[in-house]
Amino acid sequence: MTDNTVDRRQNAELTEMVRCIRCKLRYAPTKSTSSLKLTYCSFLCELGDLGFSMAGLEHMERASTVAHEDETETPEPVGVD
Ligand SMILES: [Zn+2]
Repeated sequence: MTDNTVDRRQNAELTEMVRCIRCKLRYAPTKSTSSLKLTYCSFLCELGDLGFSMAGLEHMERASTVAHEDETETPEPVGVD
């Protein structure tokens, strides 16, 4: 008779920890700040490896549409009678 609850627990830990393909560190995917949680330990590694980050792309697209807020409108002369 073997008690394999310990065995199962160890396996669970192993599958929870993955290795970052960039810095080779073990990390828990749930704690990764990368959008590719199973590949990189953080968005910095994602950024360093890909040259961009998935999340960054979305932000960049938005940023380009924002900077447009210095409309200097000349006040229309109010008709003085
Ligand atoms: Zn990393």
